[in-house]
Amino acid sequence: MSSIFDEYQEGAKKARGRHTAKFWRHADREHYICPRCGRGGDEVESFEVHHVDGDPYNGDMNNLRGLCRECHYRVHDRDPPKSLEDWKQEFRGLSENDSA
Ligand SMILES: [Zn+2]
Repeated sequence: MSSIFDEYQEGAKKARGRHTAKFWRHADREHYICPRCGRGGDEVESFEVHHVDGDPYNGDMNNLRGLCRECHYRVHDRDPPKSLEDWKQEFRGLSENDSA
């Protein structure tokens, strides 16, 4: 038997899928710029659809915001998983500091 919580999670997942599709029907994904960092689709890993008020059931366009993956993590106060490029850059930065 599934709990209320399970049902909420399951419903939220479906709603998120619907809202993501809805958002990109209204927004031009190809020319989309992340409103938080100003980067375009060729500069970011991917775009995700963020619920501004934190309610995954609120699919109003005013509540939906396309953010790049990195910014989406940041607005939720989490660190984005590092990409290989980030690691390389960080490593280069470290070794440059060592030799200075
Ligand atoms: Zn961004």
